[in-house]
Amino acid sequence: MLNLILFGPPGAGKGTQSENLIRKFNLVHLSTGDLLRSEIKNGTALGLEAKRYMDEGVLVPDAVVISMIENKYNQNAEAGGFIFDGFPRTVAQAEALDAMLGKHAKPITCMIALEVPNDELLRRTLERQKIAGRADDNEETFRKRMVEYESKTRPVAEYYSAQEKFKSVQGVGEIDEIFAGICTAIDALKFKV
Ligand code: AMP
Repeated sequence: MLNLILFGPPGAGKGTQSENLIRKFNLVHLSTGDLLRSEIKNGTALGLEAKRYMDEGVLVPDAVVISMIENKYNQNAEAGGFIFDGFPRTVAQAEALDAMLGKHAKPITCMIALEVPNDELLRRTLERQKIAGRADDNEETFRKRMVEYESKTRPVAEYYSAQEKFKSVQGVGEIDEIFAGICTAIDALKFKV
């Protein structure tokens, strides 16, 4: 059972590396950003509400994302493992995640953090804007997302560090090289899995 959290600031490459991890380890991907964008696309009330926050570059309220994750987790509860991407982003979300997984006796194995310098994060975000056309991938919103990240999300790394479940990985370089670094970190955990 591998329950991973892929962690990092906007533009760190969480989505890209999640795709690699899902393929290699046969995990179910739970990305709150993707789930929220799908709600927006489907024009649901939740999507409309969330869009206001996302376009501003601020976090969607904890209660909204926690219940969304709980629903998706319960739909896949028999899966061999999960990758949580973009969640948890606050300590309250981390506590809710631990409580949910605790009920199933399937705790988080490890949080893997992608380390990328801020100027590279901005460069990637502007690059992604050209390809994906996300409304929040512009410089002004990127800066707001970074403020949210520093104030509300970074403490989640300390939360899992205190549980001795935190590993950081070099997030700059070729996609395959970064993935190899992630796999090395996961291999080192094997005795715990
Ligand atoms: P992402 O695709 O992970 O970069 O997320 C895009 C936006 O969705 C974020 O800037 C937030 O507004 C919102 N979002 C995604 N995941 C979360 C979360 N776990 N908690 C709160 N807001 C989130």
